[in-house]
Parts: sequence; C-alpha cells; structure tokens
Amino acid sequence: MKKIRIGIIGSGIQGVCSALFLQKKDYEITLFDREEPGSSAASYGNAGHFSPYASIPLNRPDILADVPAMLLSSNGPLALKWNYVPKMIPWFLKFIKNCSKKNMMHTAKYMHQILDLALPAYDELFEEIDLSGLVENKGIMYIWNDQNLKSRELENKIRDEIGAEQQLLNKKEIHDLEPNIKKIYHAGVFYKKAKHARNPGKIWVKLFENFLKKGGKFLKLNVQDLNFDNDSPVIRSETQRFVFDKLVIACGAFSKKLTDKLHESIPLETERGYHIHFKDCDHLISRPVVFQNKGFGMTPMEQGLRVVGTVEFGGLKNQLTKSRIKNLVNNAKFLLDGLPEHEDEWLGFRPTLPDYLPVIGPSKNYKNVFYSFGHHHLGWTLGAISGKIISKMISNEKTNLALDPYSSLRFS
Ligand SMILES: Cc1cc2nc3c(=O)[nH]c(=O)nc-3n(C[C@H](O)[C@H](O)[C@H](O)COP(=O)(O)OP(=O)(O)OC[C@H]3O[C@@H](n4cnc5c(N)ncnc54)[C@H](O)[C@@H]3O)c2cc1C
Repeated sequence: MKKIRIGIIGSGIQGVCSALFLQKKDYEITLFDREEPGSSAASYGNAGHFSPYASIPLNRPDILADVPAMLLSSNGPLALKWNYVPKMIPWFLKFIKNCSKKNMMHTAKYMHQILDLALPAYDELFEEIDLSGLVENKGIMYIWNDQNLKSRELENKIRDEIGAEQQLLNKKEIHDLEPNIKKIYHAGVFYKKAKHARNPGKIWVKLFENFLKKGGKFLKLNVQDLNFDNDSPVIRSETQRFVFDKLVIACGAFSKKLTDKLHESIPLETERGYHIHFKDCDHLISRPVVFQNKGFGMTPMEQGLRVVGTVEFGGLKNQLTKSRIKNLVNNAKFLLDGLPEHEDEWLGFRPTLPDYLPVIGPSKNYKNVFYSFGHHHLGWTLGAISGKIISKMISNEKTNLALDPYSSLRFS
C-alpha cells in the first residue's frame, strides 16, 4: 500500500522531532529547510536548558510594573528596536490582556501539562542515538541579588501549586554548588531534575541524521508559497512544486509568513536573543546558572562558556545590536573573574505568541495542514513532546491531554 506522504517545512528542533515521531508511525516524510540543519537557527544557539520546571510564563501581572524600568536600563534584560515599535503595538496590546492572573494561570497550567512530559518524550528519541557527553544531568540554578522577593514569591508559590519541583538555596548552598561565582547573590533556587545540552546544534544534527538513516528525505529549499491541489497541500519555491497528503509548518519565528498565506491571522512575533562564547571557560561552572535580575544565563558547553540572554523586540530583519553583546560580556564579568575576550556573536529568534502558549495543532482553514511553532523560551525543551503530539494528531490517535489550549483557533 502507498505510504501517506507528509511534508514538513522547517527542520529546526520542532520539525525534526515531528519527523522522527511521524516516522515511528510509518509515514513517508520530507523535511524542507532553506538552511542546513544545525547551522544558525534558534535550535542551534539557545542556552541548552531542558527546563521541565519552567511553566510560569512571562505574561504575568507583576511584569507590567517592571517593564518601564527594564527598558530604561541599558544593562537590563529587555530592549526595543525603536523602528519596530509601531509594528509591535498590536502584539503588545494582546500581551497586556494576557497578563491577568487568570490568563497567567491558564498558561502555567497548560505549559506544565506538556513540560511535565518533555523529558520522557526526548528519552524516546535519544535512546536511538549516541549522545555520550552531550547531555548533562546536573540541574539548573537561578540566583538573584536584589532582596525584593515579591515576584519570586509569586513564582515559587505557583510552582508549588502546580507541582513543579524546586529547592530554594541560601548563599552557602549556592557557593557549595558553584564556588567560582562571585558572592554577589542574595539567594537562589535549584531545579534538580533539569538537564542541559553541551552542544544543542550537535544534538539537533544527530537527531536529523537519524531521520535520514530511517529513510527520511531532506530538501534544501526556501519555501515561498503554499496552495492546494484539491485537498492536497502543495509546497512551492520559485521554480519547484511538491504535492503532499499532509503538511506541517514548523518554521519557528518565520512561520507567520506561511500561515498568512493560509488566510489565518496568528499574532506570532519574535523575542530576539543573543549568545557569545568564552572559549575554554566551561570548567568555571558545572551547570547552567541564570542571573535572574539581569535576565541572562551561562551554560558550560563544548564551545566554551556560552553566555545567553536579552529579550529584544525588533522583528526578523533588524541587524544584531552591538550594545546587547556588550551587555552580555559585562554581565558575565560581573559573575566570574578571569574571562578572556569573547567569541561568536550570535543573534537568534524566539517565536512567541502573546499568551506564551505554543501553537500545536491543525490549521483553521485546511484540514491537511498542521502547525508546530511559537514555543518562545522553551522550544528546545519542548521539541520532542510537541513532535509526539503532532504525530498523534496526524494519525488521529487519542491522547489524554487537553489540546485545545494550543490550537490556533484561540486567535480567531
Ligand atoms: C537566545 C535564546 C536562548 C534560548 N534558550 C533556550 C533554552 O535554554 N531552552 C529552551 O527550551 N529553549 C530555548 N530557546 C528557545 C528555543 O531555542 C526555540 O524556541 C526553538 O529552538 C524553536 O525551534 P523551532 O524548530 O520552532 O524554530 P527554529 O530553530 O528557528 O527553526 C526553524 C527552521 O525553519 C526554517 N525556515 C523558516 N522559514 C522557512 C521557509 N520559508 N522555507 C524553508 N525553511 C524555513 C529556518 O531556516 C529554521 O531552520 C532559546 C532561544 C534563544 C533565541
């Protein structure tokens, strides 16, 4: 019998994980990407945290009061490209609406639902590849140096309520875990079950190679348009067309260009983020450390110490902002002595919806098209579970999850 053909646009962590779970169900899969997997996308440059605890969203009542001060501070975690502000206004208005306590709790509940399954879903993919030395089980630590615990009290309380495991740390406990961090901190929290990647790009490529080994096809192509041959989706570049039975759009922050073509208005924006490396400095810490007030983190990786941070609203076309790089350098030096010149200045695009839930599910207008994008700060953690959900949706298998909260229909 002829196999059902599925095209997936975007071979980032979402696209590759969907492909691998769909292969388990014996579909014929073709992945499309304009770049080589593992090269430059968010799935390459992220902080490498597998963060099953991170269900408290950024849409929360207390954040609105903090935003003006954050924007005015040149070394704070938040930045704007002023030329992009007019385009951002509709997204910001939707975001503000989602900052009510009720909407925050809705997001926390449904992020927790999938985050809780994120690591077991990866286990199903990782057992088929050799990841020696690439995933560490040493937890993730957050520290802060202000004594105003109001927003953290809120976070800790919600995490307790939804059952996300956490351990509050005093100064001595922080020092015992990470003795090289300067003692500027006031307190911290430790997420013992979290893991980290020593090289997200390499893990992504290993998953991709497994997809090819199992008979998957990859075409390097910039997908420019979509249309339909009866109900069958057709992927088009400037010169070629490919017809499929089903289609998955997994283009991260770039997905909106294609969903607009399907006559669906989904308010996807990007939160731009940056990384740099301090070569040969990964031995300075044993696990990811996030400095919460300044909104940046450091992860020990194969490339050295990766310093990651910033939420910059500025769209997909603006160039990298040099002052954000400088900010990362200064922040890292605030926490660690003896850092050399940094290397590898990288800008990446987190795909974010204003309610901080991803879109996972069928398109509103076309029954053979499915979406998996909008995983914001957690797309690396959520790759495998989102792929597993997509594979179950496409094969009409029941799950015992509530999936409506991830539907794009919430924006109709
Ligand atoms: C600075 C930073 C730090 C982060 N840290 C973490 C972390 O520690 N933990 C965590 O869980 N998450 C983290 N994230 C978030 C995570 O990296 C992203 O949510 C995730 O990688 C998104 O994956 P994706 O597959 O949806 O998109 P992407 O990785 O962006 O992949 C999309 C792919 O689609 C392709 N594409 C786009 N348009 C087209 C087209 N028209 N035709 C063909 N191909 C196309 C692109 O080339 C790209 O390869 C971080 C993100 C950033 C930026």
